[in-house]
Amino acid sequence: MGWLGLDDTDSLAGGCTTAVFHDLLNGLPDSTSIGTPRLVRLWPFAQRRTRGNAALGIELQTEDVGELIRHLDAWWSNHIAPFAGEVAPSDVSPREQSPASPGMVWFENQPPSEFYQKAVRTEVTLDELPTPEHSWGGHGRIGATAAVSWKGKECTWEAIAWRLEGADSARRVDHATVEAVDGWPEIVFSRDPRRGTSLIAPRGRSPVLFGLRATSKEAAEKGCRLLVQSEETERVRGWRVFQTNQASGDHLGDHWLLEVQDVLTDPVRKHAQIITNGPDVLCYAEGGPVNALARWLQEGDEIEVAGLIDHDEQIHAERLKLKSWVPRSRQRPLCPDCQVRMKSMGAGQGIRCPKCKRREGDEWIDIPGSPPFRTWVEPPLDARRHLSRPLEWEDMVGSAEILPNDEEQSTS
Ligand SMILES: [Zn+2]
Repeated sequence: MGWLGLDDTDSLAGGCTTAVFHDLLNGLPDSTSIGTPRLVRLWPFAQRRTRGNAALGIELQTEDVGELIRHLDAWWSNHIAPFAGEVAPSDVSPREQSPASPGMVWFENQPPSEFYQKAVRTEVTLDELPTPEHSWGGHGRIGATAAVSWKGKECTWEAIAWRLEGADSARRVDHATVEAVDGWPEIVFSRDPRRGTSLIAPRGRSPVLFGLRATSKEAAEKGCRLLVQSEETERVRGWRVFQTNQASGDHLGDHWLLEVQDVLTDPVRKHAQIITNGPDVLCYAEGGPVNALARWLQEGDEIEVAGLIDHDEQIHAERLKLKSWVPRSRQRPLCPDCQVRMKSMGAGQGIRCPKCKRREGDEWIDIPGSPPFRTWVEPPLDARRHLSRPLEWEDMVGSAEILPNDEEQSTS
């Protein structure tokens, strides 16, 4: 027995690594029995990443490893190696694609999970890889190794169905069944609650018809079966349920506690950049509540943030919380006798009640202002990363305890 990993086959011809992997599993010798296929998302900022940045792995059992390796050698040459150098087209992302550099690995024993932990959080190079018993191809060996070194303890499930070869019309997935299945508690991220639209079909060109995500394998399987069997859904080439690290939050390290120095806002696109005493924090317009909170911030406010650090040492905010904030404005106190707002007598002259003429020193009362959110916030579902763990899964909603800064009253 051993572990097989595959990555980086996205291309014009084959479309997506999941479909290539599905074919590979279907073509294995009869003497090989397969475990649960896994789909592992890796560090989204990797320099050389493919469209979905997902790698595949599986545990295989066989009495005849020699036969299996000979089969994999031939399969590699005939079905996977030809993808090398192809560039996956994307009509939804302007980002430059790396040419495909497929990689496949075979480990007789599962490699250490430290390798996965590194590959999901930061850049990994080929020379850092643990040495497999067999390997094929190029750069894709990194993702392939990460996929098999993942322990899979914290996981969700995704049932993926692929379109028939050559299908390029608009995707047809039974909407009523999607809605029904979405009502099951184990089915997650399948509909956008704000717009009421389905999120299971990918945008743009891909051999994937849909991916149905769930917190249990059984629900993913059952929901997928209902969808592909419906008359309202187009015929599929096949489907499979993957164990995934999606929604694990594995990509995020510790939270940052930062003090705001300034907030720069792009006037057209509304992206916000929070300048802090540490790394700057980017809050894209698509981030909804994260962006709204960012744009409310002022110098002196304190925030807690979780996100990925990019190559420019900026944090891309995935979770944001206001820890404390400076008062947004101030006003003169009321007269203790008449409850009328007191007025300034001029610089350094103190204040006076306009009604009873009572005089006091030069006092101010801070007005804290009202932040748009006082709890943790995260981007809406359709703007989150595959890896992002929802706040509601961590009991982080409604738990924020917050007080305005207890600043000394201004005495200017
Ligand atoms: Zn008065």
